[in-house]
Amino acid sequence: NPRLALAPIPSDPASPQASGLGYVEDATKVDKAKFARYADGQKCGVCALYQGGEGSEWGGCGIFAGQAVAAAGWCSAFAPKA
Ligand code: SF4
Repeated sequence: NPRLALAPIPSDPASPQASGLGYVEDATKVDKAKFARYADGQKCGVCALYQGGEGSEWGGCGIFAGQAVAAAGWCSAFAPKA
């Protein structure tokens, strides 16, 4: 399980914080009816809050302190990189 091999611990999509923000590890699976602000192409890897390096699959996030989010993921706090 690659989720367990990483440090920091990947954010659990089922946690209250993650589910409250609509976080998913696959941005193509965002519930678009619930999160109308989602637009195609948005994902953690191109979010201003993503702290992972270029090409990384997982990285820190300014919102999920001490955890890692998937570069391919998304949450409703998405903000495009300037
Ligand atoms: Fe991903 Fe950005 Fe949400 Fe963090 S704030 S989980 S990097 S979309």
